Amino acid sequence: MILLLDLTREQLRGLMKEWGQPAYRGDQVYEWLHKNLVTDPMQMTNLPKALRARLAAETVINPLEPLAQQDSRDRLTRKVLFRLSDNATIEVVLMLYNRRRTLCISTQVGCGMGCTFCATGQGGLARNLSAGEIVAQAHWFERWLRQPDDGQDALRVERPTRLTNIVVMGMGEPLANYDATIQALRAIADPTAFALSARSITLSTVGLIPGIKRLTQEKLPVRLAVSLHAPTNRLRNRLVPLNKRYPLEALMAACHQYQQVTRRRITFEYALMRGINDSAQQAQQLADLLAGLRCHVNLIPLNPIPNSPYQPSSEEATRRFQQVLESAGIPATVRLRRGIEISAGCGQLRQAVQQPELHLAER
Ligand code: SF4
Repeated sequence: MILLLDLTREQLRGLMKEWGQPAYRGDQVYEWLHKNLVTDPMQMTNLPKALRARLAAETVINPLEPLAQQDSRDRLTRKVLFRLSDNATIEVVLMLYNRRRTLCISTQVGCGMGCTFCATGQGGLARNLSAGEIVAQAHWFERWLRQPDDGQDALRVERPTRLTNIVVMGMGEPLANYDATIQALRAIADPTAFALSARSITLSTVGLIPGIKRLTQEKLPVRLAVSLHAPTNRLRNRLVPLNKRYPLEALMAACHQYQQVTRRRITFEYALMRGINDSAQQAQQLADLLAGLRCHVNLIPLNPIPNSPYQPSSEEATRRFQQVLESAGIPATVRLRRGIEISAGCGQLRQAVQQPELHLAER
């Protein structure tokens, strides 16, 4: 079965030609998929009946089967667990705050980066998601948001409405699945179809330098977030094993290069861990490391995983860390423990499942 969302507009035109149809049928299918978000080829009413039937017989549109969902107690965050066609599962989180409707999407099943404080990292990488499996996450939630409110849903969002932001911070390292991720983001940002501005999309990496270099040249104005978590190589080697391959000096050089070319501000994510990376001295080291970059630091109190030596920093240590950064002229925000914030910004969504304030509702 062909997953239609895996195909670019050009590839859909090619498929239609292969099937003996005029190429413009590919554009029509693309619009039905990415603009109207239909899930059944029979709804593609401007296509000949026989073509609709063939699409129904030989292709799939929605690869996601929702298995369970969780809402936070404040009814501002919803996580849905989806099953894919090979029974792999991924999680996607919708967060409502500051009038934003932000979706946190995954790019891999599991993650191969092995960050020692992250539950996803402990499980290793199962496989990459395809472009269509990534796009489908946005489509699934967008479809739900576009529906009129039936008064039955608990989430505090007035529908119909639309997604306002996407953060690529779910399971996986997006730059380790570069081609599929970029293809998916291009489809989401296509102004003629799904039309979410690329500037409303943030891609988060743990520091895969070849990927950052490719992104620098990509001409896709998404925002870049780098998960740093430590100001020295010695500590970062321990927390983020990828640092042994791509140490801080090289990572910072790639960030400077990215900024020089794109002129875009970079966000640095820093999960604060008690007694590990949260001293005033480490805050100063971080400020020194980031000097000369136009950037913003998100400080995230760590969400601890069971049997982990890493615990969240105290409020006092968090404030002190923030003050040192701000005194050095680096804007820093302390994130709330909610949604992506409780997930520490990069691939820790599985941890969020274990949040006691979340309850599980089978679908
Ligand atoms: S923190 Fe991000 S990059 Fe590191 S293991 Fe977890 S998901 Fe992968």
